[in-house]
Amino acid sequence: MLQCTAVTRIPLSDVLAALVTMDGEPDASADTLASDHYVLCELGEHDPLAEHAALLGAADAPDRPALWFFWTGTDMDRTHSIWTRPWCPAVLRNLGTDSVLKCSFFNRHATGHSWDVTDPLGDLIAGPLSTDDASDEPRERPQP
Ligand SMILES: [Zn+2]
Ligand SMILES: [Zn+2]
Repeated sequence: MLQCTAVTRIPLSDVLAALVTMDGEPDASADTLASDHYVLCELGEHDPLAEHAALLGAADAPDRPALWFFWTGTDMDRTHSIWTRPWCPAVLRNLGTDSVLKCSFFNRHATGHSWDVTDPLGDLIAGPLSTDDASDEPRERPQP
């Protein structure tokens, strides 16, 4: 499944406010956001009526809920919300290598888990670097 192509401009003031009210210290993610006002939907292609979602801020600890930006519609008719959500509990177990991939989406996300979503652009960028990684093993995206 291909990654959803929705992009949106994030309302920085809302996001910074949400980061500050999260548990714990606002960390470097606030600086990152200040220079990057656009986010990509991270989900696999989905119903256009369903919410798009982008990870905004990492949780303090890997198992803590993280901050997500959700939106529907585009520019003028866009509605958005910012919530912390727990991680999707799904794991993909590879019996051959005895490794486990954790889904890097939030709990109860739409469409496929993160290992089912391919980002054509990301693959293109990663192309020359992945020559010795010729297997079709799904790779884990680190949960921040
Ligand atoms: Zn989307
Ligand atoms: Zn999942």
